[in-house]
Amino acid sequence: MHISDIDKAIVEGLRQFGVLRDVDGHQLNQRDGAIVVACSDGDQLHDIFANHAALQSARQNPRIHLLGGHGGALKIPEKSPILKPGRTTDLDLIDEIFEAQDLKGITTVVLYTHTPCGKAYGVDLNFLQVIALQMAAKSRLKALAAESSRVIKVACFAHVHHADGRRRTYYICKEAWKRFQPAEDDGDRDSAEVA
Ligand SMILES: [Zn+2]
Repeated sequence: MHISDIDKAIVEGLRQFGVLRDVDGHQLNQRDGAIVVACSDGDQLHDIFANHAALQSARQNPRIHLLGGHGGALKIPEKSPILKPGRTTDLDLIDEIFEAQDLKGITTVVLYTHTPCGKAYGVDLNFLQVIALQMAAKSRLKALAAESSRVIKVACFAHVHHADGRRRTYYICKEAWKRFQPAEDDGDRDSAEVA
């Protein structure tokens, strides 16, 4: 599977607008490790995981608690188009994230999306729609965490397999995304970014 033409243009625009930024590892608080939620895509997960592991290279004991399945963070928003009717996929993944917190004492959650993603392309999502869902996932996680008085920090990363073969991981700057999408209001007033 190759990146679509529209996603190529979207990635280029998001890079120019500063929404997709080069990852600056030291700004991500991984003192206790990270719960990483990523799509299981067999062609991309190795690169996603390897890059994330490199962000913890300063640790003597890297701690990456990996969750995801098909679509990864896209499974979290209520009414996400990748959710199948009659199932509790979103609630099950959210439950596992909070359970991981309880089991491992990790407070940093890193949500990944990627392009090209078969799960996203299967329901005709372009990468702008994917990132909008990723932000909705972050908002839902933080709202549910607040309801149960959980301490949680959520960062959003994106992985791109470019048409020329390069694979790159980017940090998504929420403030730049809001400027890029002025009509977007995810109801999340908490500006306490992980970065
Ligand atoms: Zn995928």
